[in-house]
Order: sequence, then C-alpha cells, then structure tokens
Amino acid sequence: MPENPKFFNWSLKNLLSTIPDPLEQSRVKILYTFLILSILKVLIVIPLAYQNNQLPQLKLALILILAYTFLTKLLLSHKRYAVLISHFMILMGLVIVIFVLFGLAKTINIMAMQFIFMMILSGFYLLNRGFGIFYSILAVIPVVVFMIVNGDLQNLHNSTEGLGSPAYEIMVFLNFVTIILGHYLFYQALIRNVKEKELLNEKLLIAVNEANIAAQSKSDFLSTMSHELRTPLNSVIGMAELLSDELTSPEQEENLKILNFSAASLHTLINDILDFNKLGSEKLYLESIGVNLHSLIHNICSGLRIQAKEKGLELVLEIDEELKQIPISTDPTRISQILFNLTGNAIKFTSSGNVKIQVKILDKDADKISVRFSIADTGIGINAEKMDSIFEPFTQASTSTTRNYGGTGLGLAIVKRLLTLFESSVHLESEEGKGSKFWFDISFKRNNQALENDSIGKEQIFDLNGLRVLVVEDNPVNSLLLKKIFQKWSNIPDFARDGYEALVKVSANNYDLILMDIHMPLLDGYETTMKIRELSDKEKSTVPIIALTASVSNNLSDKIREAGMNDYLSKPYNPKELYSKLREIAFKKNLNL
Ligand code: ADP
Repeated sequence: MPENPKFFNWSLKNLLSTIPDPLEQSRVKILYTFLILSILKVLIVIPLAYQNNQLPQLKLALILILAYTFLTKLLLSHKRYAVLISHFMILMGLVIVIFVLFGLAKTINIMAMQFIFMMILSGFYLLNRGFGIFYSILAVIPVVVFMIVNGDLQNLHNSTEGLGSPAYEIMVFLNFVTIILGHYLFYQALIRNVKEKELLNEKLLIAVNEANIAAQSKSDFLSTMSHELRTPLNSVIGMAELLSDELTSPEQEENLKILNFSAASLHTLINDILDFNKLGSEKLYLESIGVNLHSLIHNICSGLRIQAKEKGLELVLEIDEELKQIPISTDPTRISQILFNLTGNAIKFTSSGNVKIQVKILDKDADKISVRFSIADTGIGINAEKMDSIFEPFTQASTSTTRNYGGTGLGLAIVKRLLTLFESSVHLESEEGKGSKFWFDISFKRNNQALENDSIGKEQIFDLNGLRVLVVEDNPVNSLLLKKIFQKWSNIPDFARDGYEALVKVSANNYDLILMDIHMPLLDGYETTMKIRELSDKEKSTVPIIALTASVSNNLSDKIREAGMNDYLSKPYNPKELYSKLREIAFKKNLNL
C-alpha cells in the first residue's frame, strides 16, 4: 500500500506511540479533538458569512482555518509542541470571549460561557493545576470587567448579532460537544491510569511475595546446610581434641595444629554465614545474662593471645580494673563475637608490632555503666576510600585480600549489625601502612547477682567415673566420638540409637544424666524427653537431660526448656564445655566428684 502523502495523514496513532504516559496521551487526544472541532466550527461559519456577505467575518474565518490547520499539523509532527499549542488555544478562547462580550454580541451569552468553560477545562486538563487556576481567573476577568462597565446584568439577552442564527446554534452545539468530549477523554485517562496502577500494585504484591518466599527458602537452605555441616564438624573438632593427648612426634603436633586451625576456621565461617543470615532476617535477639566483663574479656584475650603469638605479635590488654567489681547484664556470646572479629582482623592484617585492646569505663551510675572498647593494630591499615565499604557484606579493602589473607568479607558486616542490637556503632581510624583502630561504646545494665563461670577452659584431666550416663544419638560417628571422650574421663556411658531404644533403657536402668540428640528419626529428642518426663517413677522422670544439637534455631533454648530438658550444647562443641556441664550436674546430685 502506498503511504499517504504527509499532508493528508492526520492520524494521531504515530504521535501517541511516542508517548508512554497514558495521561499525557489523553492530553494530546483532547487537544487534537479541540483542534479538529475548531476547524469544523470555522468551516461552518465560512459559507454562512459568505452568504450574508459578511466580509470581515469571512476573512477572520479563513485566517482561523489556516491557523488551526497549521497547529494540528504542528501537533502531529512532535509531542513537544502540545503544551505550546494548549496555551495558544486557551488564549484564543480568551480572545473569543472578549470579542463576544465587547464586540460581537455585547452581552454574556451562552457562547461566551461555553468558551469560559473550555478555557478552565483546558487549563486544568491540558496543562496543570497552576495554569488551571491562572486561566480560570483570566477567563473570568472579561466577564467581571463587562459587568462593571455595563453596570448590571439586567440587559442580558441572547443575541445572534454578527452571524446568521443557524451558524450560532451549530457553534453552540459543537462547543457542547467539545466540552463533553474533553471531560470524557480525561475521565477515560483517569480510569485507565487507576486501573493500570491497580494492575501494577497486584504485580508488585506478587513480586514481593515471591521475593519473600525466595528469601525464606534461602534462609532455610542456609540453616539446613549449616546444620548438616555442623554435625560432621563436631566429630572433626572432638576427634582432634582427643588426638591431642596421643601425640608422639613434633610432626604429628604440627599436623594436628593445621587440622585444628582449619576446623576452627570452618566453624567460624559457618557461624558467620548463619549469623549473617539471621541478622538479615532480623531473627537475632540479644540474651541478657549476668556477666563479669573483666573476666569475660580476659577469657576472650587468652584465646586470641595464642593466635597473636603464633604470628610473633604482642597482644596488649588494657582494662579498667574497676570492672572486676561491677557485674553487668549482657549477651556474652555476642560481645565475644564482636571482639573476636575485630581482634581477629587486627591480628590477621598485622605482620609486626602489636595489637592493643583497651576497655575503659566512660561513665557509670547506679543502674548503668558505659564502656568504650577499642582495638588498635600496627598493621597494613585501610585506604580512606575503603573505610565505609568494608562494613558492607562480602566486601574487602582490596581484591588481593582474599588471596593474601583469606576471609569472606562478612566479619565487619556482622560486627556492624550486632552493634546496632547493642544500640551502638563502630568507628574506624586508620592510615595505610601504619595501622587501624576500631572502637565502639556500649552502655550495659548493672547486675549485682551476676555469676561467673570460669571453670570452662581450664586444662585438667577429668574423671567422671561413677556417673551413670545415657547417650541418645543416631549418628554412629558422633556416638563413637562421645565414647572416646567419656573414656578419657574414665566413664563408659550407655548408648541408645533412637528415642524408642532410649525409653526402653530408661525404664530398665536409673541414670544420673541423659545426653539427648534432637534430630532423630521416628521419635525425636523433644518427644523422647516428654515421654521420659511422663514416667511414673520419680527418679527416672526427673533425670537431668542435656540436649546435643546442631540446630541453630533462634528460640532453641525456649523449645528445649518447654520439652522438659535442663540444658543444651550446640554442636560443634568442645569436649571441655561438655565436661563443665557434666560437672555442674554431678555437683547438684552431690556425687562429690
Ligand atoms: P574478612 O576479614 O573476612 O575479609 P571483614 O568484614 O572482617 O572480612 O573485613 C573486611 C575487610 O576490611 C578486610 O578484607 C580487610 O580488607 C579490611 N580490614 C578489616 N580489618 C582490618 C584491619 N584491622 N587492618 C586492615 N584491614 C582491615
């Protein structure tokens, strides 16, 4: 099909296809309709003016038809002219109102009113609120002036002066058509806009739901994966601990050191991923336990000091001695995690010099104590440009960091998020090549009933001979590990491979303690415990039960207590932690071990 020559192509389709916004599209449609109807109106006037021999009107009509045709073609050529043409059309309306009031009819007739309406409508619909108000006032001014000049409206009457009556009627009719079409098109755009928004909202809702499901499955996947990783890691750490007593050569000692280091790194990595996962979904809460900050920090430092020593670094601890006398309530695990991460980094990124941990009281009253922690090193330092980004997850100061030092870039992101739970934030001062200093302040609640537990971690050879223990564990490797650990303590526990076997053994024997795995087929640790608690024999039903679990669920301790268990140990655990729990129970039972 040959294309229409450009002048005869009056279709709005091409222009509309260049306008994505439906509201803008409607504005152009309204303007186009106004122009076409204006041409139509003038076309009606021409023969009538000619017939009545009204030359000035004829001339004006010819000029107008040329002007409207030009404007229509201009509009069709590019959307950018729409606003300009809209202003022109409204001003034309104003000219017509003035012309009708003061020249043609000398009265406020229906046509003048129609043009005033069209001006107001065009101001709001074709332009915007500001121009809508402006042109509304402008449209009313000639009427007010006319009323002032003419004194009153008594002499209002319809006049068809200057034009033949049929032309006037057709004009009035077409003006009504213009007003109605203007409203109709704008209403249509409004409805379409609302419907499109509703559709978008629906799509958004679906997308948000899908994102939530994806985030949940990511979180579930990480929890399950880390659970699965923790179980074998428990055996690795436990077996390595057992091996430490059987070393016969320096080479074996060296090999075991590497094994221990790798297991510890893996453990940290799993914990980091998990913590990050929990922090991301805001599932992490702080515990509030009575703590002596002084001994907590000393314990943390004794572990880190070995790490520093291995690199030939000195780890200096400067702590306010007054803290010894001020027990507080806090989450010791999270405090340790923050200090481990920051000091671990300080040691990692320093090759000579020292790492200094300072803990100072800033302020105190009867209820609270505010403490400043700072960790300074003499290491590689951090480029000023990277000082913000290193706190973002999976970000390191340089691309060579992983190659040279390892790491995932999660540590500082976790520190930052953990500190928000303490209503604090981490600060950093650093100079490349000279060292870095990280510091933060925490306000702790004072707790005068705080208990200290210093027994963990002390190197001793244990003897738990005589303690009757049942281990309920379905994983044979873990059972073997526990058997060996207990052997070291001169104890031979009973083993049950599932909940049912455990119930049979508990019915047949009296135990001082049960170590209960949680995830077991058929009858899990919770159900088995509940059944034991229901037994009629008081001695059996009140036996202390400690859960051994690789689960990382947040309300784990609640669930464990609800099921009737007394305590729990998270896998991977150090055998020394297990010992300290056993000793506690043994003391309670007055076994005098
Ligand atoms: P990771 O240590 O696993 O890489 P972090 O989030 O703990 O992750 O640290 C992010 C980055 O910040 C590190 O890779 C390192 O580039 C930089 N960084 C952190 N602590 C120090 C420090 N004490 N000295 C120099 N650079 C550091």
